[in-house]
Amino acid sequence: MNARSLLAEAAQRLADAGVESPRVDAELLLAAVLGLPRGRLLTLDDVPPEPTARFAAWVDQRASRVPLQHLTGTAPFRHVELAVGPGVFVPRPETEQIAGWVLERIAGLAAPTVVDLGAGSGAIALSVAAEHPGARVLAVERDAGAIEWTRHNAAARAAAGDTPVEVLAGDMTDPQLLRELDGTVDVVVSNPPYVPDGARLPREVADHDPPLALWGGPDGLDVVRGLLGTAARLLRPGGWLGIEHADQQGDSLPVLVRGSGGWTAVADHPDLAGRPRYTTAQRSGHQAAT
Ligand code: GLN
Repeated sequence: MNARSLLAEAAQRLADAGVESPRVDAELLLAAVLGLPRGRLLTLDDVPPEPTARFAAWVDQRASRVPLQHLTGTAPFRHVELAVGPGVFVPRPETEQIAGWVLERIAGLAAPTVVDLGAGSGAIALSVAAEHPGARVLAVERDAGAIEWTRHNAAARAAAGDTPVEVLAGDMTDPQLLRELDGTVDVVVSNPPYVPDGARLPREVADHDPPLALWGGPDGLDVVRGLLGTAARLLRPGGWLGIEHADQQGDSLPVLVRGSGGWTAVADHPDLAGRPRYTTAQRSGHQAAT
């Protein structure tokens, strides 16, 4: 079948189903079916029957709001490509910036230690390892299903030549977590579950991302409250904390951090769409700031 009409029909179908970016999704699905970069679709004429049938099946699933990344099996994040599927939170483009912020914080350090709390697919941890080879990066995940994906992606990146990330089963609110690193960590970073209970989420998220990665109690900040204690304990004086948050937490999270004591330079940052997206703070202390 002709590629252009195939794409036009699929895009219409996805639009009717309420998919947010129907045309792009149709193109990415067809490109994945054909094993081509999306740009090559422009030069395509006819698509043979077998891939046409596979594409149709994927469009059906996407129309029933299965996440695009669960169909293609991958999610791009900065310079890495993560394997994703049922059981793990699909990394979002808006999280790429907090990973960039971590890299800025450790830019001058030869062998910094970075801890990613609630690592999921490993997007942040593996990006830091890929982009700062001297870093020791630890990825902590409490969800037994999700950590399979963390391990899988960490093994794949190590096999590709990146500095291995240490993957660890654990809860970011556990007072015993990584005790041996107390007072030594340069950056603690987290994209924790922060969705306020009862919030309405797109079906792709509500039905397919793991609940443990999403829900954060009445104001969405329950897990964050526990995480602050862990970060305060792990960080060295002058070390940095970065936490992603929901659109409506750009004031409440900085207030929470300031109120928990021992932090300076508390600031909030927008994502590329200009929405409040992550809070950062520096651990007070005598050591020179980095
Ligand atoms: N940003 C996510 C969403 O799209 C929520 C992620 C989280 O709780 N960490 O719903």
